[in-house]
Amino acid sequence: LNRSLAEFGTTIFAEMSALALRTESINLGQGFPDTDGPEEIREAAVRALRDGRGNQYPPGPGVPELRLAVAAHQERLYGLAHDPDTEVLVTAGATEAIAAALLALLEPGDEVVALEPYYDSYAACIAMAGARRVPVTLRPSRGPRDGVANRHFRLDLDELRAAVTDRTRLLLINTPHNPTGTVLTREELAAVAELAVERDLLVVTDEVYEHLVFDGAEHLPLATFPGMRERTVTIGSAGKTFSFTGWKVGWVTGAPALVSAVRSAKQFLTYVASGPFQYAVAEALALPGTYFAGFRADMQAKRDLLASGLAEAGFEVFTSAGTYFITTDIRPLGESDGFAFCRALPERAGVVAIPNAVFYDHRDAGAPFVRFAFCKRTEVLQEAVQRLKRLA
Ligand code: PMP
Ligand code: GLN
Repeated sequence: LNRSLAEFGTTIFAEMSALALRTESINLGQGFPDTDGPEEIREAAVRALRDGRGNQYPPGPGVPELRLAVAAHQERLYGLAHDPDTEVLVTAGATEAIAAALLALLEPGDEVVALEPYYDSYAACIAMAGARRVPVTLRPSRGPRDGVANRHFRLDLDELRAAVTDRTRLLLINTPHNPTGTVLTREELAAVAELAVERDLLVVTDEVYEHLVFDGAEHLPLATFPGMRERTVTIGSAGKTFSFTGWKVGWVTGAPALVSAVRSAKQFLTYVASGPFQYAVAEALALPGTYFAGFRADMQAKRDLLASGLAEAGFEVFTSAGTYFITTDIRPLGESDGFAFCRALPERAGVVAIPNAVFYDHRDAGAPFVRFAFCKRTEVLQEAVQRLKRLA
């Protein structure tokens, strides 16, 4: 094994999903929906397969229909115009987009400032690029400890500024944020943008949960902030937005020079992927606003159900403003080690969750936090809550 990868082992998601199967537990670990996306979009995939669209290598940058649809979606939602030929690239999920962007834009020795806890593939891809990650820890707000409504993880802007050095090449941002459910505010994003401009940094922003922002808030793409259009690579995914995580269709948008660099790396990773599914996702992106609103409302209701259930079961619950996930603090249950807690949870309660510590360099800072996914059917969430209540 390449030494730069030695520290990573098997991803926590594979480990925990295998544990869920082995113990027949409810899997609130790995974030994938247990209901597939829209029927009409599945039909679109079947049609593409049957009509022979995408069964052979699609064009390297992605099929034109999908690149047009990605551009139209960004324009419609955010007023961000992109040339589908030079500013949009289709990837094998957001995972490949992250890998290709980091491999394309980093040189050995470069520093990458990333929000901690960070999605696991960031650290591995930074390492594969020979670069160094510099984590900026999101801090739990102090707020009153009254269950569901009040606590968040927040970005300390002074810590962010202090993390940038002469070797910093890029900022790696994720909003809405996995695993904390934090959605960066307009002020925080504006400060990130100012810092990037002032220090002339590139920005890679993972916005795969752009449609999962709750309580009437709106998603604010970093690329819409002053000075960001030309220095930002934005990453999206059909897996999250349309509940087809197995299709592995993602995309990158940004200025031509950046997208062209990412494409150079991407062509030697998968070259191309997901031919017929690309046509189906093009149709999905053109679904009416009612689809997106319904999806969001549905996920918000699931969030509410799980958040109140976890609070009743004795967890301290952080507000999830976006994503599929709720982060909890297990200390009110008399526990302090999220790893040990998650390893024992299947036996104790028949539920699988993810220890947030795996997303930290400062493991101690993440030790008492545990992540639960709520992208599951109502009855599954209800049953999980019943089981978790037995812990108290
Ligand atoms: N980024 C984040 C923050 C994610 O949570 C995920 C999926 N869990 C991905 C990227 C990967 O997305 P995809 O499945 O499209 O590769
Ligand atoms: N993004 C999903 C999560 O955070 C997992 C995806 C994966 O297993 N790579 O749970």
